[in-house]
Amino acid sequence: MKKFGLVSVIIILLILFISCDKVSDPEYHIDKSACSSCGACIGICPQDAIEIGKDGKAVIDQTKCNRCGKCIAVCPENAIY
Ligand code: SF4
Ligand code: SF4
Repeated sequence: MKKFGLVSVIIILLILFISCDKVSDPEYHIDKSACSSCGACIGICPQDAIEIGKDGKAVIDQTKCNRCGKCIAVCPENAIY
């Protein structure tokens, strides 16, 4: 019975750890069907993490993005989520 309790605690801690990590470190994405290619997000991004892709729509480089949220605030189409 003690062993079952310990396993339960470990599983709960693992679930909490994974949940917290996802909440504190979200990835932002661009809805290409909504993006009007205005470039506002590119201009405001402090990390130079956004560019216009081959399809003419903005795309975020997740390796550069620091999740500051500035692009979301400036997008006139609410295309970034
Ligand atoms: S969240 Fe910040 S760093 Fe990431 S793409 Fe948007 S403006 Fe750039
Ligand atoms: S600000 Fe919004 S509409 Fe403009 S290029 Fe960026 S994602 Fe597209």
